[in-house]
Amino acid sequence: MNQTSELPQFSTLAAFDHHPRTRLVFGVDSLDRIGELGRDLGLKKVLLVTDPGIVQAGHPARAVNILQTAGLAVTIFDKVEENPTTKCVGECVEAARRAGIDSFIAIGGGSAMDTAKGCNFILTNGGRMQDYWGIAKATKPMLPFIAIPTTAGTGSECQSFALIADEKTHEKMACGDPKAAAKIAVLDPKLTLSQPRRVTACTGIDAIAHVVETAVTKRRNAFSLMCAHEGFKLTVPNLPRVFSNPDDLEARGRMQLGAAFAGMAIENSMLGAAHAAANPLTAHYGIIHGQAVGMMLPHVVRFNGKDPDALKAYAELASAPEIACVSDGLDEALEALVRWLEVLLDLAQMPRSLADCGVEQSMIPALAREAAKQWTATFNPRPISEDDFRRLYHAAL
Ligand SMILES: [Zn+2]
Repeated sequence: MNQTSELPQFSTLAAFDHHPRTRLVFGVDSLDRIGELGRDLGLKKVLLVTDPGIVQAGHPARAVNILQTAGLAVTIFDKVEENPTTKCVGECVEAARRAGIDSFIAIGGGSAMDTAKGCNFILTNGGRMQDYWGIAKATKPMLPFIAIPTTAGTGSECQSFALIADEKTHEKMACGDPKAAAKIAVLDPKLTLSQPRRVTACTGIDAIAHVVETAVTKRRNAFSLMCAHEGFKLTVPNLPRVFSNPDDLEARGRMQLGAAFAGMAIENSMLGAAHAAANPLTAHYGIIHGQAVGMMLPHVVRFNGKDPDALKAYAELASAPEIACVSDGLDEALEALVRWLEVLLDLAQMPRSLADCGVEQSMIPALAREAAKQWTATFNPRPISEDDFRRLYHAAL
């Protein structure tokens, strides 16, 4: 997380403080290296955090085998839920205490990685999840953590935030601390082959939303832009490829790398209004995160495009994979970007209207009120009010 205050806004020369915390190990069959990597970190008793779907895919059993062969003791916690709540984290903490572990390995999507991070906060620093809402609230050291993503989406493996929903209010709490970041992220494209199409679609759209939002935030800087632009180049041409051929390992690998680079971009420049608008949709209607973000993103891009600096930043982003060319005009580039996003959403077979997902018009004022309070809205390049969110939801209805 970039701690520098009073950065000059809207400048690629904005100050930044990037401290790489996560060793990135990428490659086909890199899962085979986790025994050796665990030993490098001095791990002895691991809690392997995962979910029932991933257990069915067989990845945790393979990981346990590799870790045990390397002499590590492993306990499995396989009760991770989608959009993990404080209750789910609490159960994970119980399992970790019972097993007396010294480290975490998460295999799965963002939910597994976030549950492991959330558990790490409470196990090492005590209290409850709400105590760590915000940045750098943990005062004591945390246990080493290895992240092994099986989706190409959240980028949680490359950033220090755990997104945990309050069990009662369903409000998503972003709990970030440099100590919560994975020590190692193992990116094995083969692990992403097992995703059902719906998961590929929702996580892929989320990854693309991450690069689009990080490329324009108030906090954007030379480092985050490098990650966002590279992430965009890797994901945009390859999401259609994985839809047409789910076993295309090269396209899967590019998606996985792109999602990880997007995570690094988030760590350095935060997110924006599409994520702020999506969170209340997930909280009230259970709409999957990637779908909620995807539905709001084209509307947010058009809204932000009214800001001249954001318009230029979008045009530069769209030029990276040659969706557009800045010299053809900024407005044309913005339109080309929005058209591309809409094509990707159609390929992902996602509903494009909030009404199709059961959202009622009468709920829009309440949703807008909550969206305007989201922390991530404060990083949006164009100031955005509750009224603006109301208009965005109406446009998306
Ligand atoms: Zn997201």
